[in-house]
Amino acid sequence: MWTSTPRAATNKVIRRLTTLCHGAMGMPAQVIDCGRIAAQVKAELKDRVLKLHMSGNAPGLAVVLVGDDPASKVYVNMKAKECRELGINSKQQNLPATITEDELLRNLDYLQADPKVHGLLVQMPLPDHISETKVMERIDPDKDVDGFNPINVGRMLMGAPGMLPCTPHGIQQLLVRSGNTPEGKHVVIVGRSNIVGKPMAAILVQKAAGANATVTVCHSATKDLASLTRQADVLIAAMGRPQFIKADMVNEGAVVVDVGMNRVEDAKSEKGYRLVGDADFEAVSRKAKAITPVPGGVGLMTRAMLMVNTVRAAEVAVEKAQARRR
Ligand code: NDP
Repeated sequence: MWTSTPRAATNKVIRRLTTLCHGAMGMPAQVIDCGRIAAQVKAELKDRVLKLHMSGNAPGLAVVLVGDDPASKVYVNMKAKECRELGINSKQQNLPATITEDELLRNLDYLQADPKVHGLLVQMPLPDHISETKVMERIDPDKDVDGFNPINVGRMLMGAPGMLPCTPHGIQQLLVRSGNTPEGKHVVIVGRSNIVGKPMAAILVQKAAGANATVTVCHSATKDLASLTRQADVLIAAMGRPQFIKADMVNEGAVVVDVGMNRVEDAKSEKGYRLVGDADFEAVSRKAKAITPVPGGVGLMTRAMLMVNTVRAAEVAVEKAQARRR
């Protein structure tokens, strides 16, 4: 007997069959089109950026790079490119790896005193003699477009408005916009870093639309990891271990989000290496319902959400300036 409209019920049956077929018949998973979703997120910003320009408040992002780590340089350049494409002003400051912690902190104070700098971020990782915590604490919460300042972390935990960290926020957007809402699902996160695993859990556990998940967080001390990952409706791998997640660790029909960005040697590649994720893509995609690729996956969303935070930071600065004038 139909309990809802015939079309809705038919769609439900088709969805269920499709999910079952993915594992049982070895159908390849849907590769989530992260490029399309990131482009959609950025397209939604265009009017807001235009409005800021028209009011004489062109949004501005300052990025600080300490040292000359090649991967960090690539990330910083990609962020600047995104800014150019959206009409966001960006400035990059390259500092030597020998800079002292105190000099770096004073430099951040100087940068964020500039009203044209709405967003400020320091590319991680930092040299060992500089405390990342002190750096995160020093950035003004209103300009903290990485969402790492403890004030923003606290707001995120409480579900209050604030800057959300770009990678986990981008993953939430990916899930929702690809039709794989985490609501009511069991999400298993492998990794508990302050920039991915922990904030991912904090975002998805909220009693809010696009969240409302039951979340399990795993790490290197987790016993029998596979028994937990196999329970996941949504598995988020953020370990930094190349191709660690194998097909037998994934539930049939699961959605797999691969955050990992690992360089592995590859003599056939011009660069001598290639990028792989934390999941064994070929094998896992024969079992999963949907999966994100690496490269061209979560990283695109991280940068799109950085643009969202920068635009928001500029809007907040304008709103606060208007409130002061009233
Ligand atoms: P971290 O090294 O800070 O954290 C890794 C986490 O994985 C830790 O919590 C660690 O556990 C856990 N872990 C490592 N090995 C195992 C294992 N064998 N079993 C279970 N858990 C394990 O990494 P990040 O969170 O900074 O980054 C993770 C990956 O995501 C990296 O490849 C990074 O390059 C990538 N990344 C990609 C981004 C993007 O935009 N695409 C953005 C940020 C990161 P423990 O805490 O016990 O040590």
